Amino acid sequence: ATGAYDEGNIFARILRGEIPSNRIYEDQWAVAFHDINPQAPVHVLVIPRGPWRSWADFSASGSDAEIAGFVRAVGTVARLLDLQEPGYRLLANAGLDAHQEVPHLHVHLFGGQPLGPMLA
Ligand code: 5GP
Repeated sequence: ATGAYDEGNIFARILRGEIPSNRIYEDQWAVAFHDINPQAPVHVLVIPRGPWRSWADFSASGSDAEIAGFVRAVGTVARLLDLQEPGYRLLANAGLDAHQEVPHLHVHLFGGQPLGPMLA
């Protein structure tokens, strides 16, 4: 499916600094901040700086540098939070069936407690 990126979505506004966020990491490619409604003791969102709704859009129009930079930033955040042990989970929702709430690509990083077999 194709569609326009909504420049008014809440993560775009966070990227532009129009809405505050509790940032824990940022670089040329990505920004990471605490989720406003945490579902685990550690619940961080990592977003690329570019205008993509989902992994489908990102893989279609992101440059190799943008994709590598974002993927590296996700791992950098996990490393900064020292989560290799005891562990963490990454999750990305896309579209209606997955209950994606904010139409800007984001990866949830959960940790800080045993997470069970799956976190919906
Ligand atoms: P989704 O369902 O789209 O994968 O998840 C969106 C996430 O963004 C939710 O976990 C929600 O709590 C979080 N969120 C929504 N609005 C804001 C906001 O203004 N600031 C922050 N830090 N997180 C938000």
